[in-house]
Amino acid sequence: LSNIGGISAKEGATQTVGEIDEPYLQRLLSDLAQAKIKLDEGQAASTAMLNSLGEGLIVTDEQGLITTVNSYALKCLGYEEHELIGKWMPKTLVAVDQFGRPLSQLTRPGVKALSTGQTVKDTIYYLTSSGNPLPVSVTVSPVMVGDKPTGAIEVFQDLTRELELDIAKNEFVSLASHQLRTPATGMKSILSMLSSGDFGSLTPIQQKYIDKALQTNERQLQIIEDLLNVALVDAGKLELDLDVADLSDVLKGVVNDHASTLENRNQSIKLYCPHDVRLIIDVQKSRMVFDNLISNASKYSPEGGAIQINLRTAREAVEISVRDEGVGISEDQIARLFTKFTRLSNELSSSVGGTGLGLFLTKSIVELHGGTIHVDSKENCGSTFTVRLPTRWRQDHV
Ligand code: ADP
Repeated sequence: LSNIGGISAKEGATQTVGEIDEPYLQRLLSDLAQAKIKLDEGQAASTAMLNSLGEGLIVTDEQGLITTVNSYALKCLGYEEHELIGKWMPKTLVAVDQFGRPLSQLTRPGVKALSTGQTVKDTIYYLTSSGNPLPVSVTVSPVMVGDKPTGAIEVFQDLTRELELDIAKNEFVSLASHQLRTPATGMKSILSMLSSGDFGSLTPIQQKYIDKALQTNERQLQIIEDLLNVALVDAGKLELDLDVADLSDVLKGVVNDHASTLENRNQSIKLYCPHDVRLIIDVQKSRMVFDNLISNASKYSPEGGAIQINLRTAREAVEISVRDEGVGISEDQIARLFTKFTRLSNELSSSVGGTGLGLFLTKSIVELHGGTIHVDSKENCGSTFTVRLPTRWRQDHV
């Protein structure tokens, strides 16, 4: 407003109120009215813009008081604007985890963004005004002035639809796998009886093809079992049947199971492990972990390669590494390795076949035990998968 109606503030300032002539005053008022209209238009445009966002938006000041909420957020959360504006966000909008437990102040994305000055992303549940949990994926960015956060902008997406689809997909996978398991198991018993001569002796060629059919059926059952387990992981229902067991015995057993396959591929396997490594584990699922790692070490190595397994005990954990001399994994593919249905392209992946579920299940089982898994690998230079299991772990679960 320093140059309203072509008269500069300086020029206007030379006149006292009593001296301002009528036309000048009229022009001043009309310019002010124009400026107000422009301001209102600007505000209306930003409000329309915020409200046309297909995502929830909540802005807070540096203390966490809500200053702006768009209509999408209000609709999802079931609040009126006046119920949120000026309120302290952590207290007004209750956030809970997937089990319905309230998040502590310090773990709330908004609080973290304000205290660290970093953008925080998370998936949480907000309680709506009627108390129902609303699953949301939130991104909170601090508003920085210099190095000081002066507020935060939170954008969230309603994940209800995605979760419903996910649940429907899991139920389908689980139902289909259950339905497939019964006939495949029936087939297994008939083929086993045929193979062992229960219905009369077989010619060598008949024996060969029945054994092939039996192997294929085993593979089929394995895939069905993997799909059932993936559905359980996705539904958060994969449970451990814990017991005290000797991990060295588990490893020896799995290595033995692979002996003939490895021999056929001319591959060697060495197990280095101390005796009697007692741990609280689910023996059957731990077998699945090492079975998968050894099977991969063999599948993704050329004939004649060597596999080495080392078990190392430390004060608070046991580390088991499975090392191969195979095709390896490039750095940019490692991040995708443990996700569902991931099959990386390498020179052996098309010939050996697989579902891309093994490492996803392996990681899920290791994490259920409170452990971690990581891989060191380089293309064409082999891979080492290392599982770390804590020795003093959730004794209360036994
Ligand atoms: P699958 O073996 O059934 O494809 P996994 O989940 O066990 O599924 O493995 C996912 C992918 O990771 C494999 O397709 C393969 O490309 C890669 N991979 C796994 N283990 C190794 C390994 N030891 N060496 C090289 N690549 C591997």
